[in-house]
Amino acid sequence: MRFLITGGAGFIGSALIRYLIDHTAHQVLNVDCLTYASNLKALSTVEKNERYYFEKLNIVDAPAMNACIQHYKPDIVMHLAAESHVDRSINSSFPFIETNVIGTYTLLEVVRHYFSGLSQEKQAQFRFHHISTDEVYGDLELTDPPFTEETAYAPSSPYSASKASSDHLVKAWHKTYGLPVMITNCSNNYGPYQHSEKLIPLMISNALAGKCLPVYGSGQQIRDWLFVDDHVRALYKVVVNGRIGQTYNIGGYCEKQNIEVVNTICDLLQIIRPPSKKHTFSCYRDLIAFVQDRPGHDQRYAINATKISNELDWRPQENFESGLRKTVEWYLNEVGTTHQYSNERA
Ligand code: NAD
Repeated sequence: MRFLITGGAGFIGSALIRYLIDHTAHQVLNVDCLTYASNLKALSTVEKNERYYFEKLNIVDAPAMNACIQHYKPDIVMHLAAESHVDRSINSSFPFIETNVIGTYTLLEVVRHYFSGLSQEKQAQFRFHHISTDEVYGDLELTDPPFTEETAYAPSSPYSASKASSDHLVKAWHKTYGLPVMITNCSNNYGPYQHSEKLIPLMISNALAGKCLPVYGSGQQIRDWLFVDDHVRALYKVVVNGRIGQTYNIGGYCEKQNIEVVNTICDLLQIIRPPSKKHTFSCYRDLIAFVQDRPGHDQRYAINATKISNELDWRPQENFESGLRKTVEWYLNEVGTTHQYSNERA
């Protein structure tokens, strides 16, 4: 089949493309406008593959997207292009509205037009898979049950509100126009090639550089962590075998306080790469600094992933310890070969 992936030069999109090229026989077109968050190096192992194509396009550019889709004729569209960093959405929300809301709307319209011109046989095969986040559900108290697919939307940040808006548009295009869609809402991802502005790579790269490890508030916020390759396997299961019009929550069964995550990274580095004599500290944990909390910071996210587990037989393969060790080892190999993994927040 012919897959069109938007945002394929980003953290999760590039992992998805590597999976599709390495583990399937599908053709893959990556459509990405290459914002600061993209990293083409993440595609270096597949870029020469004859089943991989790349178009530098902005999803809000309707004529260009229309020409691209009519020319490439995808069987499957998986939509990952987004502005994805909560802190940036608080400082400057417009790019989030532009890409996540208007971009998704533009893509839906282009795809609807393309879909209406397909044969019945091709229409039966076609899928539009929208990749979203658990942040659309808002905040949980410590004793609340995890989010299910029926949890009401209550986004807190401009980022999560823009993603919630895009989810609603996708659902409306299914109900109103019969577009064969599916939506996945996933918890926090981590793994190789994640941008250094996100918690885990920021902490690893700062620790290795001997810089402070800035933790918001008291670090008690809880996130449900999932290794990126487990997310990718879930996405593939949903797009191939999931039911049209359905939402599937994807999570790692791995709730951790942010401070626990940072402590675990410090302890791992202490074993794998202990501080040397040139460092002014002997213990990575000494670098932790508690900084003023993010406005509107959600206290807890947690995912009930029973539906995807029961219907599609998916469960994460990595636990937090094994996934984090792989991630730390990847950054240890990467640091020194690239300037991308430098600190932005501290
Ligand atoms: P990312 O920020 O690493 O990558 C986004 C990619 O989209 C980049 O390559 C960027 O160049 C591209 N892009 C942005 N605006 C574009 C536009 N207007 N036109 C074309 N390309 C554009 O994001 P990610 O972490 O890989 O997340 C991918 C998707 O998964 C997003 O929709 C995000 O909301 C969702 N998600 C992420 C997480 C997570 O923990 N990272 C968790 C759940 C869901």
